[in-house]
Amino acid sequence: MRQLQLPAFSFTDKQRKFRQEVRSFLQTEKELGTFKTHADSWLSGYSSEFSRKIGEQGWIGITFPKKYGGQARSSIDRYIVTEELLAIGAPVAAHWFADRQSGPLLLKFGTEEQKDYFIPKIIKGECYFSIGLSEPNSGSDLASLKTTATKVDGGWIVNGMKTWTSGAHHSHYMITLCRTSPQDSNFRHGGMSQLIISLKSKGVSIRPIQYLTGEHHFNEVFLENVFVPDNRVVGEIGNGWAQGMTELAFERSGPERILSTFPLLEEATKIMVEQGDHRGLMEVSKLVSRMWSLRNMSIGIASLLENNKDVGLAAALVKDLGNSFEQRVAEVIRLLLSTLPDKHSTDEYSRLLAECILHGPGFTLRGGTTEILRGIVAKGVVSV
Ligand SMILES: Cc1cc2nc3c(=O)[nH]c(=O)nc-3n(C[C@H](O)[C@H](O)[C@H](O)COP(=O)(O)OP(=O)(O)OC[C@H]3O[C@@H](n4cnc5c(N)ncnc54)[C@H](O)[C@@H]3O)c2cc1C
Repeated sequence: MRQLQLPAFSFTDKQRKFRQEVRSFLQTEKELGTFKTHADSWLSGYSSEFSRKIGEQGWIGITFPKKYGGQARSSIDRYIVTEELLAIGAPVAAHWFADRQSGPLLLKFGTEEQKDYFIPKIIKGECYFSIGLSEPNSGSDLASLKTTATKVDGGWIVNGMKTWTSGAHHSHYMITLCRTSPQDSNFRHGGMSQLIISLKSKGVSIRPIQYLTGEHHFNEVFLENVFVPDNRVVGEIGNGWAQGMTELAFERSGPERILSTFPLLEEATKIMVEQGDHRGLMEVSKLVSRMWSLRNMSIGIASLLENNKDVGLAAALVKDLGNSFEQRVAEVIRLLLSTLPDKHSTDEYSRLLAECILHGPGFTLRGGTTEILRGIVAKGVVSV
């Protein structure tokens, strides 16, 4: 029986001071009208101007090495920045994937030329990445993917299709998992490679898929004879699956798996305090205590990542619990206050409630579905 042990963590005075610095910067920007609070802003809040401002503060790629323009700060400092950005519902989607996973992936597996070229631009908030994994018939069973890259002189020719690709209509590049040799029935996870595809390349076409809200955040990406030069292969040919799996720990354990609906929770709490709604506040306190435990688990993972520990199992557990929590926030809150959801309303609560309800179904799909995550946890045989 394996035990899941997440270290207890408490912030230092320096870290608390840093949080105050980030919080007051964001509060000032909000008051200046730079952005409006939205739920689920890490996937749907796009502003290249805001991303550049965050880059100027040094808060994108904050853990990246100094030689590429980063600050080599700790995963905990990164955690503080992401938590504050999410709590205020800031428009961070443009740089989110590059900061969270494409940058770290390139730092781990990329060539020196790739690091020199991409990392400083990511840090400045000027270079955005999408994640090209899912295909129409390959989601949970990603190893069955059909997009192929065929070797030609000086590079690779890619043909296939990706779907649900968040932000591809804004991003400059997509890290694309594709098949570079035929599937081997004895080793399903072999023969795949990761290629950096410029989304401006000839042969790339991007078609929107609308959300329930009617908004456009993700896409179908068609790849027709797209040429990718050899210097845009990430890591080793044939090692794409193993490399891609290392990204998942970054992807699954962060505060964005807990806080997508936090702006609604905060707004509802304000209203209940104003109204002296004690019954409502009792329910909110149950949500907050649950959020607190999840947050401690998620910070525990950030501190394990800092020490290069394997966190795959713990990240799956936190993502599953965190996503159910995010959805539950909207469910509980909507029954406590009588205002109806309306995404066009000028009333902050009504708008945030609509955003949470309409975005909610995607929480338990993106980045790994509930069933898949529970399978990982069950196979890990965890006792807490
Ligand atoms: C908002 C959003 C953003 C996304 N952004 C991206 C992105 O940027 N890039 C990207 O590549 N993908 C993205 N995705 C896609 C996401 O990763 C997939 O939706 C997810 O992996 C599930 O794949 P699928 O949709 O093909 O569903 P399927 O894999 O077909 O699953 C359908 C259902 O069957 C269940 N199921 C499947 N296999 C099993 C099994 N073995 N055992 C038990 N149950 C099973 C699943 O849990 C699910 O309930 C995004 C999705 C959403 C909702």
